[in-house]
Amino acid sequence: MFSHVLQSEFELTLNPARIVFAEGAITRTQEMVEALGCKRALVLSTPGQIDQAQALVASVGASAIGSYSNATMHTPVDVTTDALENFERLEADCTIAIGGGSTTGLGKAMSHRTGRPQIVIPTTYAGSEVTPILGQTENNMKTTIRDADLQPDIVIYDPELSYGLSESMTITSGLNAVAHAVEALYAKDRNPVSSLMALEGARAIFEALPDIKSKPDSTLGRRKALYGAWLCGSVLGLVGMALHHKLCHTLGGMFDLPHAQTHAVVLPHALAFNEVAVPDSLSPIATLLNSQTAGAGLFEFTQSVGAPLALKDLGMPQSGIASAAQSAVQNSYWNPRDFNQEQIERIIDNAYHGRSPEALA
Ligand code: NAD
Repeated sequence: MFSHVLQSEFELTLNPARIVFAEGAITRTQEMVEALGCKRALVLSTPGQIDQAQALVASVGASAIGSYSNATMHTPVDVTTDALENFERLEADCTIAIGGGSTTGLGKAMSHRTGRPQIVIPTTYAGSEVTPILGQTENNMKTTIRDADLQPDIVIYDPELSYGLSESMTITSGLNAVAHAVEALYAKDRNPVSSLMALEGARAIFEALPDIKSKPDSTLGRRKALYGAWLCGSVLGLVGMALHHKLCHTLGGMFDLPHAQTHAVVLPHALAFNEVAVPDSLSPIATLLNSQTAGAGLFEFTQSVGAPLALKDLGMPQSGIASAAQSAVQNSYWNPRDFNQEQIERIIDNAYHGRSPEALA
């Protein structure tokens, strides 16, 4: 199935992290702090997960010295500065981020500045916990850095923690994970291992989301979704992303759109466009979705699980379509298919209105 991947040479450096995956694994957090040689962990969360953060501080006991619960989407630098003041004042020696990509981002930003180790306990499917990538915002500008030191040291995957994730966030966050996987399948620097992980990750999420939608407390569904998130996040950390991620970063940054939802809307459109250039890479996705093409199959899948379909429903202004297209073609990422501004405008216009995706001439 992956013979096309073997048509070229490849290089692979796996990102080292200790992965602990089990129901109830959060109860091993103190053991993980000790495994890092640390004694004074600062627990991080968003304001919405302050209760979880405080419960974690209590359960970790003497190895946790408090919590900081102002993590914010897109890792604003002023929040990182504030968190670091708390870290230093409390004489902390490591962080434990409990939450989604926003909280993980804060943990990475702090570790990058302090050189201290970090544990992440993910509660969404964004995948940031297994990447050496950090996006930060300052003066309304988002910049991304990639550095091996950003990779968290220990990741505790406890499916029980995602039971409380709302259905809508579960669906869109799962599709955010799928976005990493499908772009990894056609990445310029893909390799047989990244393609295996990407396809297995996508398969797990495709199975999990309908299961969780029909049975929100499905233990197997939650376990599969988190397993898929781990694999999809891992490939995001291994290979380069393309047009889809560029479009989401542009749209999210320009119009402050919600991260996971933007990925869910844009993905079928970016995929339908790229599929023309890389049909072999994406045919396993079409097969998994029981569809002729990956783009059409994914659009049907997003509809069937009730994901948002239109950028206009996420708060994007129609007047922004042309300027977003203009911005997206600047400093663009490598992509398997060449594109021009007119095509990108058409893709965004389709995504804005929630139309079916087109391959485009
Ligand atoms: P998020 O972390 O912003 O979480 C969304 C909301 O859901 C928050 O209010 C959070 O507190 C809440 N929440 C999370 N888990 C919950 C749970 N189990 N129960 C109840 N509420 C819960 O959203 P996200 O989509 O996970 O992360 C988005 C951020 O992650 C963006 O800033 C994005 O740029 C970043 N990201 C980075 C990478 C990377 O590799 N650097 C990868 C993916 C995403």
